[in-house]
Amino acid sequence: MPRFIQLRQPREAVELVEAALARPGPRQVLLRIEACALGMLDWQLLTLDAPPRLPLVPGHEAVGVIEATGPGCTLRVGERVLVTPLAGSCGHCAACRGHDPRHCAGAVWRGMHVDGALGTHLVTGEQTLVPLELPLGVDPLPEKLPDHLAATLAVCGGSLWTAVGAVNALGLVERSRIAIFGAGGVGHLAVQVCRALGHQVFALDADPQRMELALSLGALPIDGPLDAAVVCTPSTQALQQAVRLLRGGGRLALTGSSPTGRIDLAFNDLVWRGLTLRSGLLGTRADLEEGLALLFSGKVKPSVELASLDEVPAKLWALRDLGFPGRLVVLPR
Ligand SMILES: [Zn+2]
Repeated sequence: MPRFIQLRQPREAVELVEAALARPGPRQVLLRIEACALGMLDWQLLTLDAPPRLPLVPGHEAVGVIEATGPGCTLRVGERVLVTPLAGSCGHCAACRGHDPRHCAGAVWRGMHVDGALGTHLVTGEQTLVPLELPLGVDPLPEKLPDHLAATLAVCGGSLWTAVGAVNALGLVERSRIAIFGAGGVGHLAVQVCRALGHQVFALDADPQRMELALSLGALPIDGPLDAAVVCTPSTQALQQAVRLLRGGGRLALTGSSPTGRIDLAFNDLVWRGLTLRSGLLGTRADLEEGLALLFSGKVKPSVELASLDEVPAKLWALRDLGFPGRLVVLPR
């Protein structure tokens, strides 16, 4: 019987439940989930007074293998796929027509508007899945990881998508001094993306463990004015610090968001100092492919903390509150 982590009441503990799944409908597939990553978005949802949907299965990024297909599918049974955070969009607005469905007003986010992937199985539309070439092909990760471990790294493809999207949204054309504020799940990947693109990378994180991870990945403590910054934490303090440290004409991308937080910026910073502010919410399809190429070439190595599905109800809050470097990855088996 498929098993899931479910939030049944706002702000209550999540539960491990068993339930049968519907058979996949037209252009839907049934996935056996190999790994599901949890991050800030999931934790924020669990603390809302009125989540968009209840009961709700969290989990917006995962790797799974197709076990069954509905009518009209082009993906095949046995294929391994990346489950991405965006589960659907209207398909006809200006954003969708411009191949930018993440900014569609009717965008459907996994683990928020529809059930997420934090369980043994998931039924979902095949259009939102990205086939993964695993076992890793031409240029494998040095450790030659077995499939199930490779999945724990590939599951970070969603976060890496955001990291690459944010760095590319800065629109930098030459080697720059970039700082990453907040070296957690997305931030520690952004450090590596900037390094891979040849930039000089700095990092700042109040948590000593995460700061140590950023430094071990080649970031330097911030020293002097910055050309650009990526703020990967929903902290107003980090944002204001980034604004202060940017040079005139500097660029800023934000990936950390909060359902209740607010941004307080001075007109003078945006107008007189000419700072550019960009959203780093996921990225374009090209950003995703760039991220996966970095992952599979071994240029970016996610740091993961593993947990089993059974451990999630007891450990979820402890993991969030105590902090850990990198990404939390749940293996449902
Ligand atoms: Zn749309």
